[in-house]
Amino acid sequence: MPKEPPAEKPKPGLLEPLGGFLVTGGTMFKKPNTEMYPEVKTPTAPRYHGRHQLNRHPDGLEKCIGCELCAWACPADAIYVEGADNTEDERFSPGERYGRVYQINYLRCIGCGLCIEACPTRALTMTNEYELADDNRADLIFEKDDLLAPLRNGMLAPPHAMYPGADEGSYYRGEVPGAPSELAEAEGAAK
Ligand code: SF4
Ligand code: SF4
Repeated sequence: MPKEPPAEKPKPGLLEPLGGFLVTGGTMFKKPNTEMYPEVKTPTAPRYHGRHQLNRHPDGLEKCIGCELCAWACPADAIYVEGADNTEDERFSPGERYGRVYQINYLRCIGCGLCIEACPTRALTMTNEYELADDNRADLIFEKDDLLAPLRNGMLAPPHAMYPGADEGSYYRGEVPGAPSELAEAEGAAK
């Protein structure tokens, strides 16, 4: 059976392009959507996935145990962790291990939050900070010092001993109030 010739496309009418001009003209009189960034920062949603933070226990010891689960969970291969053993003379976290090297590559991170889900100690969370641009690649690889939460009242910078009588479990359950006063005094005297 012979094929039917393809149907011809209808030719645009003379007035049809005017529709496009009407859209352009209408937009000219609309209020602009421009945001005055960076002078005025738009607040993010409360659970926005921004820059990561490595959290501390109330006495300042680090929550990260260097287990690498976050790195394994990351679909973008953006996290690099190297764990090391704590010793009684040099303790950074309450358990056996701590994260000696911790890096997040923000050139790769897609902000999915899977690393947060994977962390067994809630060491890793995300902040609302979204200004993660730079003019060179090296500065977008954040090191542990860039990611660690600041020391707050009652915290001492590790390495230091665990709270007297506390063990790994008490830290995990949030039963440690802060650095013991004698430890704080010893730190103060050493400065
Ligand atoms: S937010 Fe997602 S992409 Fe970014 S480091 Fe975590 S798991 Fe990787
Ligand atoms: S941040 Fe959490 S998951 Fe990642 S190495 Fe530390 S403890 Fe493990």
